[in-house]
Amino acid sequence: MNSDFLIIGAGVIGLSSALELIQRGAKVTVLERGSSGNESSWAGGGILSPLCPWDYPDEVTRLTSRGAALFPAWAQAIHAATGIDPEYETSGMMVLPPFDAMAAEQWCAAHDVSLKQVKGEDCTLPLHGDSLLLPQVAQVRNPRLMRALRNRVEMLGGSIIEHCEVRNIEAGNGRVRTLTTSSGELSAESIIVTAGAWSTQVLGRYALKTEIKPIRGQMLLFKFTEPPLRHIVLQGDLYLIPRRDGHLLVGSTLEDVGFNKNITQAAHDNLRLRAEAVLPRLCDMPLVQHWAGLRPASPHNIPTIGQHPQLENLYLNSGHFRYGVTMATASVEILLNEIISAPQPLDVAVYRPG
Ligand SMILES: Cc1cc2nc3c(=O)[nH]c(=O)nc-3n(C[C@H](O)[C@H](O)[C@H](O)COP(=O)(O)OP(=O)(O)OC[C@H]3O[C@@H](n4cnc5c(N)ncnc54)[C@H](O)[C@@H]3O)c2cc1C
Repeated sequence: MNSDFLIIGAGVIGLSSALELIQRGAKVTVLERGSSGNESSWAGGGILSPLCPWDYPDEVTRLTSRGAALFPAWAQAIHAATGIDPEYETSGMMVLPPFDAMAAEQWCAAHDVSLKQVKGEDCTLPLHGDSLLLPQVAQVRNPRLMRALRNRVEMLGGSIIEHCEVRNIEAGNGRVRTLTTSSGELSAESIIVTAGAWSTQVLGRYALKTEIKPIRGQMLLFKFTEPPLRHIVLQGDLYLIPRRDGHLLVGSTLEDVGFNKNITQAAHDNLRLRAEAVLPRLCDMPLVQHWAGLRPASPHNIPTIGQHPQLENLYLNSGHFRYGVTMATASVEILLNEIISAPQPLDVAVYRPG
């Protein structure tokens, strides 16, 4: 194998990093322990915004806002090239009470984000009080996005090696020399760790202060003949996401249970009960699927992006926690600027490893 870059992990972050590098002329191989795009990036809801954006620090807002702004053209280009439609859609997000109306108004005004007040009587849902509509919030359909991304990477000559687990990083003289993998020893000019919730393990003794851990999220899927909602609907940490073809996702839990992807009856009952209170028509609908994914959780939801402080040819792009799909394009932009020493579009000091 003769690659400029070895990328560890074929989730949305690994594949979008690979795509950008390939488009700039690099030879790239992605190493994936399981199959491509099958972990957190498959399991997520694909909302291209933080749930209540006003609840997050500026370091999160900068990445999610830039990521969401870059997303439509990026997704459109991948769709056009592959014929696989990731179903990017500006469906808007309705926030049901209770919420902090003043914080929402101030945040939206400060960030030039549209916000509409919706009177209780004007809403078709059985609300108790007024709600907020964020009309610019978009969504994407994760499994389709992951298929399109993989297709595009391979179409442009990128290589994805599945069932190849990276087990150790061998370094010397301030550089990574080889990766020990289940397929033997591999090396390249540069290495990028995009292993999601597993990134701290992959880094091993080179993890430094990187604290990325798995946080389980469970999701339910239903199917209506027509979309039962016009917008994504959010109430507290419960959300309902209508897809174009009538599928409805209900999520999600936030569970600190280690690398355990089991689904539970308790989560099913809790999500279903709360979703039925928002959308009573759901009571008659059979469950289509129930799954769990492991989010790559970082403190304050702030990912680690950039060059390793001790190993000059090692880079990280990991720990995007709840918003990795939203942040993907902006994170890749920052990583690539760092690799080629180009100016950054925003202050990136806080994302640096170590
Ligand atoms: C239920 C749920 C809902 C979500 N909803 C949203 C949402 O609405 N909007 C949003 O923006 N984000 C959402 N997220 C978060 C988002 O999905 C993640 O932040 C994002 O997918 C992280 O991408 P990743 O590429 O870093 O990780 P992953 O997709 O997990 O990819 C990492 C890859 O690395 C591989 N790997 C691990 N170890 C090794 C190894 N040793 N060797 C080789 N390969 C390895 C894994 O197999 C995996 O394929 C949600 C997540 C969940 C679970």
